[in-house]
Amino acid sequence: MLKDGFGRTIETLRVSITDRCNLKCLYCTINQDTVFLPKHRIMTYEEIMKISRILLDLGLSRIKLTGGEPLIRKDLPKLIEKLASLNEVKDLSLTTNGTMLTSFMAKILKEAGLHRLNISLDSLNPYTYRRITGGKLNDVLRGIDNAIESGFNPVKINTVLLKNINDSEIFDILNFAVEKSLTIRFIEEMPFSKTPYSGVSNDTVFSMLKPYLETDKVVKDDKSPGPAVTFKVKGSNAKIGFISPFSRPFCMKCNRIRLSTDGKILPCIATNKGVDILSMIRNHSPDQIIIDKIKESLMGKKLMHDGFKNPLKMNLLGG
Ligand code: SAM
Repeated sequence: MLKDGFGRTIETLRVSITDRCNLKCLYCTINQDTVFLPKHRIMTYEEIMKISRILLDLGLSRIKLTGGEPLIRKDLPKLIEKLASLNEVKDLSLTTNGTMLTSFMAKILKEAGLHRLNISLDSLNPYTYRRITGGKLNDVLRGIDNAIESGFNPVKINTVLLKNINDSEIFDILNFAVEKSLTIRFIEEMPFSKTPYSGVSNDTVFSMLKPYLETDKVVKDDKSPGPAVTFKVKGSNAKIGFISPFSRPFCMKCNRIRLSTDGKILPCIATNKGVDILSMIRNHSPDQIIIDKIKESLMGKKLMHDGFKNPLKMNLLGG
């Protein structure tokens, strides 16, 4: 088992496989900074496999692919297939904005061995969706249906609420979850970009939704233990989760390590201090030296995030 300096077991690797995205969400770095990495600085699939292999040998067992928008990356199913074939990988998931998740792509991803899909959806109103993301609501709604029809279960939806933009839609989103038997997770906005829009505390969202939730029992997710505190919606198969880095920080239970698009290992979502593993791999450093550097980085993992004083760009780090 891989442990950090505070004895937390690190189980999950989050990989940002591309910094590019077809959307420009108001709360994402891409909205203000669209300078993308030159291609040669982005990890190849072989390099992602090599780094994953090292981390799996150290005891990790869950991998999440994110970005940027992972579906933009050419031949993504090939990477999924390779990762899914590794015995140590107990859980392989992907976070996408869903707008390019055609029925064909959803099926191919499933066949390649992807276990789970998380899809981001911030609004059910086409105008608001366009305002937040620059994209078309119908594209993501179709993507969600395609994911369900291809047999992904559960399909989890990520929603970031912004004051006076989409915070009037909390009950619409609850109804949508019930109608489609989905798990919706409200993620508190983290300050990655200097946006003038402020996020909504999950304490507020929880108090509004409480009457509709079975709050006496937190739903345990053994398949993918993560930071969400999740409740069943009364009388339905839907679930509502709360990911609350500010109102209920979960750093004490953090089980993640991150790999940025340019191959840096970072111990925390709020830091920009990473170890450049990609350069080491390209310079043919011995595995043991790479392992020592990864362990050193983990020893520097703080007990709590620092309030996102100086984070890396969200699209390089992955959400
Ligand atoms: N493009 C994919 C997507 O939209 O799901 C994957 C990358 S995106 C960075 C991953 C997740 O991070 C999304 O659910 C997104 O809503 C969330 N996210 C991005 N910026 C955020 C922020 N500033 N605060 C909270 N969540 C954020």
